[in-house]
Amino acid sequence: MSSITVKDVFNSMEYGPAPEARNLADEWLMAHGSSFGHYIGGAFTDPNAGEVFDSINPATGQVLATIAQGSAADIDRAVKAARAAQDDWAATPGHVRARYLYALARQIQKHSRLFAVLDTLDNGKTIRETRDLDVPLAARHFYHHAGWAQLLDEEFRGYRPVGVCGQIIPWNFPLLMLAWKVAPALAAGCTVVLKPAEFTPLTALLFAEITRHVGLPDGVFNLVTGDGDTGAALVAHEQVDKIAFTGSTEVGRIIRRETAGSGKKLSLELGGKSPFIVFEDADIDAAIEGVVDGIWLNQGEVCCAGSRLLVQEGLAEKFYARLKRRMQTLRVGDPLDKGVDIGALVAPVQLERIERLVEQGKREGATCWQPDLTLPEQGLYFPPTLFTDVEPSATISQVEIFGPVLVATTFRTPAEAVELANHTRYGLAASIWSSNLDLALDVASKVKAGVVWVNSTNMFDAAAGFGGYRESGYGREGGREGMYEYLQPDWTFAPRKETAAAAQPAPAASRADDLADDVAAVVDRLDLDADSDDDQLDDGFASFAADAGFGFEDELQPAAAEPEEVALPVTEPASVASSAEAEPPAIDATPKLYIGGKQVRPDSGYSYAVTSEQGAFLGEVGLGNRKDIRNAVEAARKASSWSSATAHNRAQVLYYLAENLSQRADELARFIDTMDDGGASLGEREVEASIRRIYTYAAWADKYDGQVHATPLRNVTLAMNEPWGVLGVVAPTDHALLGLLSLILPALAMGNRVVAIPSSPRAAIMAPLYQLLDTSDVPAGTVNLVSGNRDELARVLAQHDDVDSLWYCGSRSGAKLVEEESTGNLKPVWVIRSSGRDWFDPAAGEGREFLRRATQVKNIWVPYGE
Ligand code: NDP
Repeated sequence: MSSITVKDVFNSMEYGPAPEARNLADEWLMAHGSSFGHYIGGAFTDPNAGEVFDSINPATGQVLATIAQGSAADIDRAVKAARAAQDDWAATPGHVRARYLYALARQIQKHSRLFAVLDTLDNGKTIRETRDLDVPLAARHFYHHAGWAQLLDEEFRGYRPVGVCGQIIPWNFPLLMLAWKVAPALAAGCTVVLKPAEFTPLTALLFAEITRHVGLPDGVFNLVTGDGDTGAALVAHEQVDKIAFTGSTEVGRIIRRETAGSGKKLSLELGGKSPFIVFEDADIDAAIEGVVDGIWLNQGEVCCAGSRLLVQEGLAEKFYARLKRRMQTLRVGDPLDKGVDIGALVAPVQLERIERLVEQGKREGATCWQPDLTLPEQGLYFPPTLFTDVEPSATISQVEIFGPVLVATTFRTPAEAVELANHTRYGLAASIWSSNLDLALDVASKVKAGVVWVNSTNMFDAAAGFGGYRESGYGREGGREGMYEYLQPDWTFAPRKETAAAAQPAPAASRADDLADDVAAVVDRLDLDADSDDDQLDDGFASFAADAGFGFEDELQPAAAEPEEVALPVTEPASVASSAEAEPPAIDATPKLYIGGKQVRPDSGYSYAVTSEQGAFLGEVGLGNRKDIRNAVEAARKASSWSSATAHNRAQVLYYLAENLSQRADELARFIDTMDDGGASLGEREVEASIRRIYTYAAWADKYDGQVHATPLRNVTLAMNEPWGVLGVVAPTDHALLGLLSLILPALAMGNRVVAIPSSPRAAIMAPLYQLLDTSDVPAGTVNLVSGNRDELARVLAQHDDVDSLWYCGSRSGAKLVEEESTGNLKPVWVIRSSGRDWFDPAAGEGREFLRRATQVKNIWVPYGE
């Protein structure tokens, strides 16, 4: 008989053990002989057909199951199964797809205990979290997306499913990440090949079983287990149309590089170092609980963990003292125990990483504090840890530790808080605590993060988008914004196999596109390494220009013998002379670059000749180089007033632009006709269409507003469409004016500043365009125009850290180049198919897709209530 009395319990208030039973999970594992194959085309493969690995319980070291290691051949079979199922699944009525998703949600709920225990065993995360957060949210995602399947035709008119999706997920939320990926894909009509993390495949295998149970058609959902090599094979597979990845920024970069130029759609949900900002007027008790949730949820193995605590100076000492008291009460131990707050870390490698970074933090001079806790003797545990006196540039302030380690520093003013919050390459989430809502929302608008929680933290829901800014990746999961990741506008859709043919330039554009490729070849021949320093590059430009026979500006030299591989059309001024005798050429100016509201000479001093479609010499334009792009980006950075101007004011400026364009319509039309040899009517049509397009985006400026998401908690979730900041634009070759404006205008309407590269052979359009901009009150630096070798300039834009996003129209090789070059800073690149597109057609040349691409959604959660 126990000698403990009720009084003893009240006196000590100690927790007793409260373990969740694991028998359900053990029975399920035993029913499968504790060994699992892949799930391909509606059936499980032989678990012992190839290599295998163990799935281990990190809390005990016990082997839970033997798992098949997916090979490239397994991936190939799974992708082919998904491809075979794709057309039928896409053609399945939305209502029917909705029923499948609803059935999956119901099954997750019915098996919620099994899912929860399996995730806890496999990952080491606490049963409290798997039971109360992971599993209910996973079910909620399937319910929510059943709704999108039902409404798809109505709400996403003009869009089609992307196709076969390769989805790669991490180990920190195994079932939840599966739900975030699979639910929207199936709702949109895509088929899936999923690669779960090597450490945590079990709930994905159980999910595969329930897809079979609900009768999901064979091949719609496929699962291949394995390690990073399996993931890499999925990324590389030619018949995959989209890759959706969640994981480390390092692997995100690898995937960006691997998919460059492939035409695969890509969404990346990567790491974070999210700020947790506490102002002096915050509710301290609530903020302390917020910190506990923010950093110690899931042992800190959370991409959006509030791992950087920023406390206003006057509150800091008090806050740290209270926090330490609270940390002392945290319970670390058996994750199956319902009274435990912090469970086991996923694997030895993760524990080692945390230990290494903590030691580094100490070495770098920060003060480390840990509560006096006894950790279990067996298993992978690390105590909750607080670092204070941390320099913002210290390793532990910058690197994602992905463990229960909080790094704290202080700030004085709101401006300083914002500066410190943004002092990171990441931009996933932020948490802001203040009883002054004006202040909190002001800071929320200034923090660079995809998700901001006001007086709250770690709020998630299927109806709200989740995803990052900057090196935290791109794309959103959840909400309307998340659905677009699995859809493609009708006009950009081309079945994979036809892509190569479809991407061949249309006859009118072919010459310039081929020429641009040839320029790249010349540049390659000249060995213009991307990493070469400026001088080398500028020398390269000089010799490139010399090769091409370009003269110095204002010094029209007869072109030397034109090397065959040279791209930009150069004709001898002699031909001008002869045609000039008959009829004076319409264009004889030498347009300069347009940077910071000024016409400037290119840094190189070179220019290049532009000719009409038929080869008649039209004049010369500046040959911009890396330094010109840098200057243009700097000018665009400085022009931030455009982004903070009201939408109404931006619209007024655009209307004024239309007004001025209409006054010069005849002149512009003749100019375009001369360039395009398109007959009298083309220029007129193009100018008229341009005026309409300006009107369209002036109209949109104050109408493409955000949403208030209907999340189930007591709060408003504001989905704000924010401009990227500085947007690089590489214009299409055809329709010099309309093509360029079709890209610049939506960017401007949404508040971006633009650095644009006009079509190389049509760059003469810059002169009338910057005159228009000058006379239309477009603030200096808002639009910058740099002419020259398209792909070489595009490369510089892609590499530039201060260009926030890049739109590229051009050749396939150019698309590959810019996507590869964006790997370093993980800049989102939109490759816009121009060939075959009718820029005059509003359905293809303007509208929501452009506006959506001109913005990124920030979800701001604001709770309300007493
Ligand atoms: P990874 O980014 O390596 O893993 C994520 C997923 O990608 C896993 O399924 C992994 O497979 C797979 N993968 C690995 N390499 C490739 C590749 N070359 N091509 C395609 N897929 C690949 O994260 P880790 O699990 O290795 O964790 C390392 C660190 O990453 C952590 O310490 C943490 O800092 C961070 N991390 C961040 C996450 C986030 O959500 N922000 C999530 C997980 C980790 P496999 O599991 O077999 O390696």
